[in-house]
Amino acid sequence: MAASCLTTLSSPLPDQHTSLSPSNLINLTISSPSHLQQLHSLLIKSGAPISSLSFLRIAAVCALSPPSAFSYARNLFHRSANSPEIFLWNSHLNTLSSSSPSDALLLFTRLLSSNILPNTFSCSFALKACSQLSNCFLTGKNIHALILKLGFHPDVFLHNTLVHMYSSLGAMADAHLMFEKMPRRDTVSYNIMIARLTMDGEMDLAREMFDAMPERSVRSWTSLIAGYVQWQNPREAVRLFIEMENLGMRPNEVTVVAVLAACADLGALDLGKRIHEYANLFRFLSNVRICNTLIDMYIKCGCVQVAREVFDDMSERTVVSWSAMINGYAIHGQGDDALELFKDMRKVGIQPNPVTFVGLLHACSHMGLLKQGQNFFKTMIRDYNIVPEIEHYGCMVDLLSRAGLLDEALEFIRKMPVKPNGVVWGALLGGAKVYNRVDMAEEAVRQLFDLDPLNDGYYVVLSNIYANAGRFNDAAKVRRLMRNKGVKKTPGQSTIAVDGVIHEFVAGESDHPQVEEIYRSWDELLVKLKVRGYVPDTSVVLLDMEEREKEAVLYRHSEKLAVVFGLMSTPPGTVIRIIKNLRVCNDCHAALKLISEISKREIIVRDRNRFHCFRDGFCSCRDYW
Ligand code: ZN
Ligand code: ZN
Repeated sequence: MAASCLTTLSSPLPDQHTSLSPSNLINLTISSPSHLQQLHSLLIKSGAPISSLSFLRIAAVCALSPPSAFSYARNLFHRSANSPEIFLWNSHLNTLSSSSPSDALLLFTRLLSSNILPNTFSCSFALKACSQLSNCFLTGKNIHALILKLGFHPDVFLHNTLVHMYSSLGAMADAHLMFEKMPRRDTVSYNIMIARLTMDGEMDLAREMFDAMPERSVRSWTSLIAGYVQWQNPREAVRLFIEMENLGMRPNEVTVVAVLAACADLGALDLGKRIHEYANLFRFLSNVRICNTLIDMYIKCGCVQVAREVFDDMSERTVVSWSAMINGYAIHGQGDDALELFKDMRKVGIQPNPVTFVGLLHACSHMGLLKQGQNFFKTMIRDYNIVPEIEHYGCMVDLLSRAGLLDEALEFIRKMPVKPNGVVWGALLGGAKVYNRVDMAEEAVRQLFDLDPLNDGYYVVLSNIYANAGRFNDAAKVRRLMRNKGVKKTPGQSTIAVDGVIHEFVAGESDHPQVEEIYRSWDELLVKLKVRGYVPDTSVVLLDMEEREKEAVLYRHSEKLAVVFGLMSTPPGTVIRIIKNLRVCNDCHAALKLISEISKREIIVRDRNRFHCFRDGFCSCRDYW
């Protein structure tokens, strides 16, 4: 029932001396339950029949009332006529099915016990109410049975409602059966199934359904694109989006959010920028969610400044916007900007959430602000009632480890109320590496072996720590252990986008069409690097081979190849942006610092944990990662 039924008439209620003739009453508008009560009392006093009231207006009051007032209005409604029209029931049911589904079901039960026969609309509103309540599978099934019993021949609309009801309640087998049995399906039928399948991660089935559709709407495309993003297949999401665009479909705001998230995952800055322009053109930028996703996309593509511009241009900012920006500064090594922004956030009265504190702790640990970080951790619990999560503990261990307080860090881990994960122990290992604490490294790696036995990164770090301490036998033991455990090295993989095309490089593999040219360029660059004092750090190669062979392996690390390709194929001065699947090794880190100086380029590498921004021979991580 639309609110327009309640065209509020500001005419006062008739007083006791005015005659309450039906014609008089018809001109009155009942705008609220109390209004209705007043009128009711007047009717009783004057002895006028209750049926003088307009059914439609009572229905409107019933539909828009809170549950307590609703029961009053409903009573009146039932007394006002012996046989109210089914359309009045339906108009209640319709409104209640979205605003208060359990009331809708109560009303539907009432309808069944009256002497009025429900029609297909009544049933569809009741089904709609079921689909919004988690425990209504049996009720829904009963209504379905009733539809069959009453001999209704469901049209495509009612069929869709049934499919939607079953799929919303997670009864996918029933939903499938209904869908298969439908004599005629429309785009909505397919969309219902696709939306549910993507939510459940059944992407292959969703795709099959999508491919089988005779006609697709923007919603169909958007469901599938968002599904691919949610289930970590951003490449397919982007591919599908481009196909959608080529067909002339106009993406809506939901599509834009999904594609921007895919761009963020892939580091596809060019496409991200294009979507930004599109969002601007269609005035989507007043949508806070779109702006928040834009901020995230720019941060993950290494453009903190542009993210800040988006943030500054927002007319309304939520805690998500502020936290995204604070975290962005922190992972880009701009800790002071993160803390400054937090002050602004408090000034405008926004309450921080757990994510805000992850950013703040990160910023402090990065800048070595031990005291301030510890204070934030305390404030978060004491003043904001936030229960620390594993991410916060990880940040605290990182903070202590970076400050060289490894014993305190270990103590902190032991006292944690949640089970430490790989990030927590990895932070301790990072500190042990910097401060050459063999004992701490052994403890951390012992735990990491259990948590993540097939990750070779920890073996590399431990072996290097032994080697640094002159314990070459132990270093060799780690390598043997790694072999015996059958640890398979995850191949390093780096991507770089040039002119909108994503080029992928895998360590040691040479299937890029310009591979010869890339190798030649690297050899030339290597000469310049060596002049600047670059010495290959072969300790990162944990293979038993000759030194020269180890160097050859190092020179084919994926981020080196990607950087060389970037230098070759972009004009001087262009920022080079690379995404790597693993952490950057010591050797590549040292080489990239020098390359940024020699080539006068800014090189931004997003590795598994953080960003490295190489400029003029330095890295924003200050060599701690
Ligand atoms: Zn490397
Ligand atoms: Zn770095």
